[in-house]
Amino acid sequence: MKGDNLERLCVACRKLDKKEHLIRFVRLEGKAVPDPTGKIQARGAYVCRKKECLDLLMEKHLLRKALKTPNDEEALREAMAFIEKGAWEVRHG
Ligand SMILES: [Zn+2]
Repeated sequence: MKGDNLERLCVACRKLDKKEHLIRFVRLEGKAVPDPTGKIQARGAYVCRKKECLDLLMEKHLLRKALKTPNDEEALREAMAFIEKGAWEVRHG
């Protein structure tokens, strides 16, 4: 067991789910960014790969609270696009 089956809490609906069913966000340089690889070493927060949970994050600003950064809009937009298309458009850096 190396933690691959660990469940994480969705910051929107507060349910536990497996990491592969969740989107991870991290705080990098004062900004929230999605972490599709799950490998970025930074403060992270998870949310279900569901539109309703992302909507809740946006409405209640839960991601910026979880990551303690006000700059979460771009990350949320990317995550929403991911859910709609089922694929990441990675264009960081
Ligand atoms: Zn959720």
